[in-house]
Amino acid sequence: MHKLEPEDFERLVSLKPTERPKVVPKSVDRRIYAVHSRRTGNIYEVRLAVVDGQWFAGCNCMASGFAAKCYHLPAAALVNMGARHLRRYVAGLVPKPKPKRKRRTKKANA
Ligand SMILES: [Zn+2]
Repeated sequence: MHKLEPEDFERLVSLKPTERPKVVPKSVDRRIYAVHSRRTGNIYEVRLAVVDGQWFAGCNCMASGFAAKCYHLPAAALVNMGARHLRRYVAGLVPKPKPKRKRRTKKANA
């Protein structure tokens, strides 16, 4: 398992949109995701864990086997964070955004 750092997410975001992997949840509760590589077409399994508020992730791709951090890890973590936020939002645990105030428009002096 690798510890996820902010630069891992920055590296994922720096990828071209056509290179960003597609993430499909296999088990949201157990934090297991299938990550589809757009470049190779391969599908990898990413497992996530949160320990003391820090994210850890493991992947079964070749890069992760060589103790390197692959971009599959932050991709799955982002989807997990989004799913968690959505569940909390639906349960009413997240404050709803305030409605935007309308801008006052100045009336033209005629
Ligand atoms: Zn990987």
